[in-house]
Amino acid sequence: MKKRILAIMTFAAMLSLASCGKVVEGQPSAVTNTTTKSAVTASTTAVSTTEAQSATTTADNEVSTASAEAQTTESAQNTYSEAATEAVQQQAVPAGGGDQTSNQSAPQQSNAVSSDTAPTPNDYNYGPAPVQYSYDGLTYIQGVLIANKSYSLPSDFNPGLDATCQNQFYKLQNAAAQQGLNIWLSSGFRSYDYQAQIYNNYVARDGQAAADTYSARAGYSEHQTGLAIDVNQIDDSFAGTPEAIWLENHCHEYGFILRYPQGKQSITGYQYESWHIRYVGTDMSYPIHASGLTLEEYFGIDSYYH
Ligand SMILES: [Zn+2]
Repeated sequence: MKKRILAIMTFAAMLSLASCGKVVEGQPSAVTNTTTKSAVTASTTAVSTTEAQSATTTADNEVSTASAEAQTTESAQNTYSEAATEAVQQQAVPAGGGDQTSNQSAPQQSNAVSSDTAPTPNDYNYGPAPVQYSYDGLTYIQGVLIANKSYSLPSDFNPGLDATCQNQFYKLQNAAAQQGLNIWLSSGFRSYDYQAQIYNNYVARDGQAAADTYSARAGYSEHQTGLAIDVNQIDDSFAGTPEAIWLENHCHEYGFILRYPQGKQSITGYQYESWHIRYVGTDMSYPIHASGLTLEEYFGIDSYYH
């Protein structure tokens, strides 16, 4: 009888060891500890119980349970680990920061701005309801990225000056030069942080209410889209100059619109800015120019801080 009990207990101990050994391989210490504790409990139960046979059975069950727990835990952890890895991989694409966000939205922008060929007036008509599409905090309407007081940009949206916008500006500049006019790029892309500095300086100088009429808060500036350009002296002295008049009448031929026209402050949210043009691509700039409407009116959106 003793020999049999000893044999059974040895077997139980071996199971415990086998169980521990299996768990130890490549598994976290927490799992090992749990298994060891169960195995110890099993041994203690076997020793303290009067009826050796039932004690051994209990011990076997405990060991089996411990082993099963270990395997279940192992399996669960592998599953969790794979799931976690997949989750990380899936998150890696959209969570990659400003550059990746910018790359992902690039096709939408390039769809909207890729055409350099001016449409004939019959090619466009004014669509009824605007199609709005929001992506990672960016709002597009008919392919146009919107940034005004109602539609902000994420602080990490940092695309730099759009290459197509820049090339089209150079074409505009050359065309103006052929008319003897001198138009130059004064301010293009502005990051969230830089806009914050500019805006805060104006608030310190003029107060917030005044600053809000001519300077965007960080995250609300069209310059952060990389699709807006301020030309020449960036103040009211530019208005009425031959360059300003030419810009107003011809910028749409290169895909730009005059973004903050005179008398539209209640709609755009900004004073007249004769120097600020926005690249939307010729597919949009022609119909918008022909409509005589601001971007807000054309798309039926508002612009005020909510
Ligand atoms: Zn501007």
